[in-house]
Amino acid sequence: MGQGLGCTANYEQGLFIAAQFGDLETVEALLERDPILIHQTTVYDRHSALHIAAANGQIEIVSMLLDKSVKPDLLNRNKQTPLMLAAMHGRISCVKKLIEAGANILMFDSSHGRTCLHYAAYYGHSDCLQAILSAARTSHVAASWGYARFVNVRDGKGATPLHLAARQRKPECVHILLDNGALVCASTGGYGFSGSTPLHLAARGGSLDCIRALLAWGADRLQRDQSGRIPYLVALKHKHGACAALLNPSSAEPLVWPSPLKFISELNAEAKALLENALMEANRDREKNILKGTAYTLPSPSHSDVGTDDNISEISDTELCCICFDQVCTIEVQDCGHQMCAQCTLALCCHNKPNPTNASIIAPVCPFCRSSIAQLVVAKVKNANHNDPDHHDTTASSKLRRSRRSCNLSDGGGGGSSSFKSLSAMGSFGKMGRGSGRFTAENELVDKP
Ligand SMILES: [Zn+2]
Ligand SMILES: [Zn+2]
Repeated sequence: MGQGLGCTANYEQGLFIAAQFGDLETVEALLERDPILIHQTTVYDRHSALHIAAANGQIEIVSMLLDKSVKPDLLNRNKQTPLMLAAMHGRISCVKKLIEAGANILMFDSSHGRTCLHYAAYYGHSDCLQAILSAARTSHVAASWGYARFVNVRDGKGATPLHLAARQRKPECVHILLDNGALVCASTGGYGFSGSTPLHLAARGGSLDCIRALLAWGADRLQRDQSGRIPYLVALKHKHGACAALLNPSSAEPLVWPSPLKFISELNAEAKALLENALMEANRDREKNILKGTAYTLPSPSHSDVGTDDNISEISDTELCCICFDQVCTIEVQDCGHQMCAQCTLALCCHNKPNPTNASIIAPVCPFCRSSIAQLVVAKVKNANHNDPDHHDTTASSKLRRSRRSCNLSDGGGGGSSSFKSLSAMGSFGKMGRGSGRFTAENELVDKP
């Protein structure tokens, strides 16, 4: 008997090693010889073969074990499921397979009280994060728990997946989570207690991209954490100078999405991407201005405004935005069909920091005819017989500019012309805030914890 136990131990060991390295034949042979092995776990961590295969991305082994009706939600010593380990290690095919096999996405481990969504966000595996979110949208979780609640699920310390992604410098995950309704101002303190917001944690992590995304979604630069610090002071403390400059409450406010859940989330993907680019570009202009004269320079891949004009052939008046007379129309309002540029669309819909005390959000209307906006889509190019064959590709780039600033306002459509003036003023908001935000050396002295 003693000898038999020793053999079983060897087989176990062999099974775990084969699962780790994806040796399907060996795993099958071992399980055929001794089916009980399938229930064995490692001695200390109590990983099952499924845990090991999932963590190592061995999709064939994972599939085979699930086919042998191994339960997908086995728990190891820390109550982690194979799905959590797959999400932690970015094993997208295993994540999908486990979800397909009915793995529960709403399990909490015992070490930090985290879900698979927390793991994907923390380790920055945006593909796994997406897969889990789409599973949440269609699974029983949405029905029983609510999708928005799942996106904002808290770990044992009150951190949402957004907190973790911001802290770990994972801008892509930050973006996806915000896009899916993560609360930008969630505090780890929970109800009635102050805690850290995602912006505090991004300030600590020092990722400019995370800070940018959070600010564009309306993160509050003045919210205080449990120590009474605003994100700006956290960035200074951790010596993230450029981040601090953006977080400095005295620097210009960034543009933010309007009521993101109600309006922008209903946009079609193409128009949304275009508007997002325009917004981030406008904020980048604003950043350049904030960081001007400081020691921090941004690695800026964006175009220079000067010089691009020369490469662009004449644009007909019909394509030019009748609000700013500066950019090409790239966005079309439906159902009325009026067109304007992405920048003007943003100026129409966006406002600087939303006022939380003012709960009523007025849906924007078409600036030309004042009809309500059913949908925003990417505008089709009106002028088909254009000289430049590349023209169609470049119109949507929002980089086209034109110096001529004359256009008959009445061409824009009847009614509402009184609103043109104010809109035009807002129109080229790339210039907004220019000069109003100064990062001064005095602010460095504020941090005296
Ligand atoms: Zn415009
Ligand atoms: Zn209209």
